[in-house]
Amino acid sequence: MKVLVLNAGSSSLKYQLIDMSNEEVLAKGNFERIGQDNSFLTHKVGEDKHVIETPVKNHEEAIKIVLEQFTNSEYGVIKVLGEIDAVGHRVVHGGEKFATSVVITDEVIEGLKECIPLAPLHNPAGLSGIEACKRLMPGTPMVAVFDTAFHQTMPKEHYIYPVPYEYYEKYGIRKYGFHGTSHRFVSARAAELLGGQREDLKIVTCHLGQGASLAAIKGGKCLDTSMGLTPLAGIPMGTRCGDLDPALVKYIMECEHISIDEVDKILNKNSGVFGVSGISPDFRDIEEAKAKGDERATLALDIYNYLVAQCIAKYAVTLQGIDAIVFTAGIGENPGTVRQGVCDNLAFMGVKIDEANKFKRGCEGELSTPDSKIKVFLIPTNEELMIAKDTMSLVK
Ligand code: AMP
Repeated sequence: MKVLVLNAGSSSLKYQLIDMSNEEVLAKGNFERIGQDNSFLTHKVGEDKHVIETPVKNHEEAIKIVLEQFTNSEYGVIKVLGEIDAVGHRVVHGGEKFATSVVITDEVIEGLKECIPLAPLHNPAGLSGIEACKRLMPGTPMVAVFDTAFHQTMPKEHYIYPVPYEYYEKYGIRKYGFHGTSHRFVSARAAELLGGQREDLKIVTCHLGQGASLAAIKGGKCLDTSMGLTPLAGIPMGTRCGDLDPALVKYIMECEHISIDEVDKILNKNSGVFGVSGISPDFRDIEEAKAKGDERATLALDIYNYLVAQCIAKYAVTLQGIDAIVFTAGIGENPGTVRQGVCDNLAFMGVKIDEANKFKRGCEGELSTPDSKIKVFLIPTNEELMIAKDTMSLVK
């Protein structure tokens, strides 16, 4: 079975065509700047890269060009589009309506529309990708896989905010969490590495990328996660602030004489490690500056490592113990000082990283010493494969 995985962002479209018989990625790519005059597609077949510069107005035009690449006479990977058996769509927000991946029907599309207020920037893009595929590939079954779904197992006392309860009832204000597909993928893999899923297996997964979140998972079910109603909550990120004293918003507005939208933008785009270091949202740049003795880069990394470690320790309460910690995504999968810095903060819990594994990069393996009280793993995430697997199992 061949599955096309689509991840439509507000102005981008990432995709992979996967042959599920051997999980081989036949082709993948990214259409960037959709809706602008300078939009372009980078299409990859193995090591070969093809860049197509062409303005596209919307996701439908972009998907049409992507589909043409799959059957291209020179570097095509299939003969006819009919060889694509199913399409899996990444959808950011499924609200409380979607606790698992679902086959897309007209009713599901209506449900997705109802979730737009919860993700006004992201869900419309996902929907336009779905509508476009419906028109361009009629009859091909499609599946929606939600970033929020995995976290729907959180108990109520973990997802209700201590604000007037009617906001939850009227507006759906609660913790939802994101990166669910990644947390599900790496925690399932960690369970395999630990000898199989058990009811009492307690894992904390740390998805540390440009956006970052942690999840507390027991017996394969999420009990808590660090992002909230929106992906602004939790640990600090490249440019996002993470958890704050909420009174800070009003205070900044008054001090800087700026609007609520401007504060919102500052907390989303100018905060996190970028805001503290004043250098870059990219951890490679911050690590480099720290190595040269830059004080604010060092401070940004110290804050980050402290807050990630604190969140892990908090999840020891949630899970009543921790068997394993998993690092994944751009920062978690690469060497640098973060993994070590986080684990140093957890030394009191008996967490020990093996010196020999300190610089491990991008490949699965155990990072902890044999006598570490909690196992530490590096597990590269693969959200596309997870989406393709869900798609295959639902349309089969
Ligand atoms: P992601 O969102 O998972 O693609 O992660 C992207 C982020 O990972 C980048 O912005 C960097 O901050 C970080 N990153 C990527 N490569 C490295 C590296 N070699 N060392 C440290 N951080 C890295």
